[in-house]
Amino acid sequence: MREPSHPRRWPPAWPDVTDPAVLAAIAAVPRHLFVPAQLRDQAYDDIPLPIGYGQTISQPYIVALMTQALRLTRRSSVLEVGTGSGYQAAVLAQVAGHVWSVETVPALAGEAQERLRRLGYAVDVKVGDGRLGWVEHAPFDGILVAAAAPDVPPALALQLAEGGRLVIPVGEDAWEQHLWLIECVRGRLRREFLADVRFVPLVSTASQAEAADERLAEVRAELKQLFRRS
Ligand code: SAH
Repeated sequence: MREPSHPRRWPPAWPDVTDPAVLAAIAAVPRHLFVPAQLRDQAYDDIPLPIGYGQTISQPYIVALMTQALRLTRRSSVLEVGTGSGYQAAVLAQVAGHVWSVETVPALAGEAQERLRRLGYAVDVKVGDGRLGWVEHAPFDGILVAAAAPDVPPALALQLAEGGRLVIPVGEDAWEQHLWLIECVRGRLRREFLADVRFVPLVSTASQAEAADERLAEVRAELKQLFRRS
């Protein structure tokens, strides 16, 4: 099979993705090494592709838009929920300092970790329910959720650093969700609508034994208030 290489114009010209670091990251990460071999000739089409286990590698435009929204620097620490192929994590690692990524499907987590290590990206992957975040490495400057949740998991908001930013698709509908940016400013949460999107669902594998945690209850109430207006 022909080894795909970047097309002459990669990334394509996206009017709303202008951050040079993000565009350089998309240009640098070899997406064809993150898709199944039989789909490699489509790796540089700007579309999501199946990666097995009913999951998909996100569309590059959405990866770029979400990465840009986090406003990362080389010193940022980032949490990703939904490692999948590891492509989004690689793009994040290209822009930020270190990336921690959580995936529920053990086979995907294992393959992604191996691939990212081989390619030299500073990403640690663990198997688990990303709705709980990764408390040992919190707080994070950026949190990116690559699957759609009916509500913002409060543990994620709680693991944001001051000034930290969380991008997450929210919605119950399989066909349409809203992509939100949630920012922690002086201890309060703010939200901003980014785009209409379509993601696979964020599944729950762990019971959220969090009702007892007072701070989580507070953040849950704050999020409820924030999303009452949607
Ligand atoms: N970022 C990926 C695309 C991921 S698709 C990439 O670039 O390839 C969404 C992923 O989220 C799937 O792999 C799915 O298994 C995973 N997922 C779903 N619910 C999850 C949860 N609660 N915690 C962690 N991962 C989850």
